[in-house]
Amino acid sequence: MAKVALVTGGTRGIGAAISKALKDAGYVVAANYAGNDDAARAFSDETGIKVYKWSVADYDACEAGIRTVEAELGPVSVLVNNAGITRDAMFHKMTPQQWKEVIDTNLTGVFNMTHPLWSGMRDRKFGRIVNISSINGQKGQAGQANYSAAKAGDLGFTKALAQEGARAGITVNAICPGYIGTEMVRAIDEKVLNERIIPLIPVGRLGEPEEIARCVVFLASEDAGFITGSTLSANGGQFVV
Ligand code: NDP
Repeated sequence: MAKVALVTGGTRGIGAAISKALKDAGYVVAANYAGNDDAARAFSDETGIKVYKWSVADYDACEAGIRTVEAELGPVSVLVNNAGITRDAMFHKMTPQQWKEVIDTNLTGVFNMTHPLWSGMRDRKFGRIVNISSINGQKGQAGQANYSAAKAGDLGFTKALAQEGARAGITVNAICPGYIGTEMVRAIDEKVLNERIIPLIPVGRLGEPEEIARCVVFLASEDAGFITGSTLSANGGQFVV
């Protein structure tokens, strides 16, 4: 029977590419999103992938959403924690609200989604969790103290949970994309993008969402069972750890 994969923020950008790639790889995919109904509907019409609306920042909503997905599609074997937001500001101008929204979605959201699924994966002795962190969680980025903190937190979470899941057949890994050509990045002023960002990327271009999706498909596969607690950098050589 086909395995079920749940992708948060799976209807747009990198998440949409991940949802499609997992479907193409034979998974039954559930794509979660937060509020953009038009994008979700268009994505579902185009791909035939079922979409589910709730905020990963709300624990109770995650529990209820996961219950619905599992009732409709079956137990979730693969969780991709991809949903993420930015609320950029230099630190002296950053508001507590900007800090909280980013931590609640990008870090606590990963707890909120993983925790309700953990016992089932342990009982079934199989699970694949892939957390989409960021190059800016590895190196830090001015103007993104909130985002860098959350994404670095995701890496610590990944390493700790990998140790807890190892004997239960659950792998937990993180991918750190560099600049990928999604709406989040295309929203950056074109001059800044061309003159200040792309020159920093040794391969000389933005990444494509599909390039991240292919990393997810590999880490989700049975073949990747010996890889856990790892951080896969996919950044065109921009930051080497
Ligand atoms: P987009 O802004 O294009 O898409 C974000 C997706 O996340 C949307 O589907 C959105 O739903 C969903 N989302 C946002 N908040 C929530 C929430 N509270 N609950 C559920 N879903 C939510 O982002 P990207 O594709 O660019 O980024 C995807 C991930 O990759 C993020 O974690 C980001 O931090 C990370 N990343 C991106 C990079 C890039 O260059 N683009 C670089 C490094 C990391 P809706 O459509 O309803 O708004």
